Amino acid sequence: MHPIPYGRQDISPQDIEAVVEVLRSPWLTQGPTIPRFEQLVAEWCHVAHAIAVNSATSALHIACMALGVGPGDRVWTSPTTFVASSNCALYCGATVDFVDIDPRTYNMSVAALESKLRDAEAGGTLPKVVIPVHLCGQSCEMDAIGRLAKRYGFRVIEDASHAIGAQYQGAPVGDCRHSDITVFSFHPVKIITTGEGGMATTNDPDLAEAMRVHRTHGITGKREAMEARPESEIWNYQQVSIGFNYRMTDISAALGVSQMRRLEEFVARRHEIADRYDSALEKLPVIRPWQHPDTWSSYHLYPIRVRHEDCGLAQREVYETFLGEGILVNLHYIPVHRHPYYERLGFQAGDFPEAERYHRESISLPLFPTMTTEDQDRVIAVLERTLATKGQPVASAG
Ligand SMILES: *Cc1c(COP(=O)(O)O)cnc(C)c1O
Repeated sequence: MHPIPYGRQDISPQDIEAVVEVLRSPWLTQGPTIPRFEQLVAEWCHVAHAIAVNSATSALHIACMALGVGPGDRVWTSPTTFVASSNCALYCGATVDFVDIDPRTYNMSVAALESKLRDAEAGGTLPKVVIPVHLCGQSCEMDAIGRLAKRYGFRVIEDASHAIGAQYQGAPVGDCRHSDITVFSFHPVKIITTGEGGMATTNDPDLAEAMRVHRTHGITGKREAMEARPESEIWNYQQVSIGFNYRMTDISAALGVSQMRRLEEFVARRHEIADRYDSALEKLPVIRPWQHPDTWSSYHLYPIRVRHEDCGLAQREVYETFLGEGILVNLHYIPVHRHPYYERLGFQAGDFPEAERYHRESISLPLFPTMTTEDQDRVIAVLERTLATKGQPVASAG
């Protein structure tokens, strides 16, 4: 039996053709395909500016830089995310803290955020930036987070790495209606891919310009941003700050342009698969992903929660049975604060109990556009069979 990954890309002959076309062109990087890709994403998101970079990690970093995050500042994010959502603040020398998750959506809990903000205001330790993460492709409650941002004076970066093609209150994720900047990832397991790649969107022209400068060494070619130098010398560019080489290539952007044309189809197919899981798992003693009525998910992930008290099995037993059957389920995520590096910063087990409970119970089932109905049936059958062992003595219920 062939292995079934939890996620993978869908590359069409047209995608390949688009990349080959750039390979035959004069521009492999810094050419015309990057602005085309940026424009397509900006139009899709109903946002003024889009800045393409070589990963979402880079996008998160230049987003923090553009917002002026530095030593002495505090940045808060969700513990249930990929480490990049919080590493970006550490790159800037800031201090990171976390806000526990909502037990239904697994996104940053608005109630926990509000209560932490109240304490922080009293203690003079308010965050400069909060980074809500749209886990699995389901938007956070941005309306409420945006209101808290105004009330407490912090800035917002949406980590929408999972969520291009998703909607919140009928509008596209990435429109930055309740945030300063939104970040997308185009890693192959995500909704669309450019190999490696990311994008930052914003409606603020100054933030857009700052991110463009930070992605290319801190160099500008814009007259008005340069310092005066003698007319006798040629100054067609200047380094005005310290940045990085975070540029996307035109090769990647060509794949991005081609994949954007299929975004709607990808998300529709992900919904079909998720709906099918929803019906097939309805009668099983596991918790299916709950959807907030304000959201239309891009369904990057379909995590189920396996609780010993519901099904008599430990998460590990179900997880290992899947792996043994060649079904490469995964776990999203180990809470960031539990990683050794973060524990050395002072975090410990018990700090964010909902995120830790989720870590002990969740398993992400395979979900990707090219997944066949037969493959999905295999996943469902293995789960049904495993859960049917309920009540039998279990070896390692830990
Ligand atoms: C994938 C991911 C990232 C990092 O994306 P890259 O493009 O691989 O740098 C950041 N945040 C979240 C939530 C992700 O899932």
